[in-house]
Amino acid sequence: MTREDARFAVADHIAALQPYQPGKPVEELERELGITRAVKVASNENPLGPSPRAVEAARRALAQAHLYPDGSAYALRRALAARLEVAPDEIAVGAGSNELIHLLVRTFCRPGEDEVVTHRHAFISYAIAARTHGAPLTETPVRADLRVDVDALCAAMGPRTRLVFIANPNNPTGHALARDELERILAAVPPRALLVMDEAYHEYASALGGDYPASQPYRRERPWIITLRTFSKIHGLAGLRVGYAVADRRVVGLLDRVRRPFNVPSVAQAAALAALDDGEHVARSVAATRDGLARLGAGLGELGLGVVPSRGNFLLVECGREAAPLYQALLARGVITRPMGAWGLPRHLRVSLGTAEEIERTLEAFRTVLP
Ligand code: PMP
Repeated sequence: MTREDARFAVADHIAALQPYQPGKPVEELERELGITRAVKVASNENPLGPSPRAVEAARRALAQAHLYPDGSAYALRRALAARLEVAPDEIAVGAGSNELIHLLVRTFCRPGEDEVVTHRHAFISYAIAARTHGAPLTETPVRADLRVDVDALCAAMGPRTRLVFIANPNNPTGHALARDELERILAAVPPRALLVMDEAYHEYASALGGDYPASQPYRRERPWIITLRTFSKIHGLAGLRVGYAVADRRVVGLLDRVRRPFNVPSVAQAAALAALDDGEHVARSVAATRDGLARLGAGLGELGLGVVPSRGNFLLVECGREAAPLYQALLARGVITRPMGAWGLPRHLRVSLGTAEEIERTLEAFRTVLP
């Protein structure tokens, strides 16, 4: 290695990282194809947009943009605490739940020693966070239907395990754990480990019906459970980056030491606070999701594609063939879905719910490109 190269050398675990691949931005595709009205159904965003009350609150907060935000997010944490019937010092806020996932690994895992356990095809940030911080990572196998293999997950947890990450419901599969599955996992978490239940789609899963065991009631008896939620999904504030953890106050205190000061901007805090009170927007979003899941699921099914039943605002689609060419063909028709190769599912696409019109245009594009 030349001296110049040595300046750019990094630890092996950093050199081996693959960047997170977000959904392709609409503007980029429109520029490339010279089209307008591209449809992006790639990032599980809320197609109805942000809560209007949140937009108004953000606009008002902008007038104070010369001031640093409240670094302790006092008002937002109090409002969340009241809503969840916990104390404000049991809430940590982050720049999206993604920041909290990284913070948890950085705070609790010594590189090379403390293991992160999750299952295959879980939300990809857990593996990225473990790899970024040099924590040993174990990804347990899933069942043939892609549901969590609870026995395999429980068997993998051991004395080195420090963090267990489960998204419930999971992205990208859309599956929720059954109550008895969650309880078997709870019984198997070893004494040194914290269980992180990532409930980014909680508001959808709890409203869409069916078995969905939220983690909050279990947390009262088990201070080692950490619940993650976000304003990026049903509240429609993905661009503002606000998520939160509900955790034992000792966990919150430790995260407070490690996090950057002022990690959540004032405009984002104000918008989140207002969104929390906008029950109408949440109800509208649930209703649109219920209709959308039925319409998109039926339409894709009619085309002979395999659709995994979902408890979130997206569908995982088994294409019955390599999905990358299908992804490209849909792009050429102005429809941005999400290829799942990086998630270990090269025959799947994930399709988020758009508006009713976007769903029709998505189905039309699928109809055109399928052989
Ligand atoms: N967890 C899950 C399961 C997700 O699907 C997502 C977003 N795709 C996140 C966490 C992160 O969301 P954010 O950082 O925007 O809060």
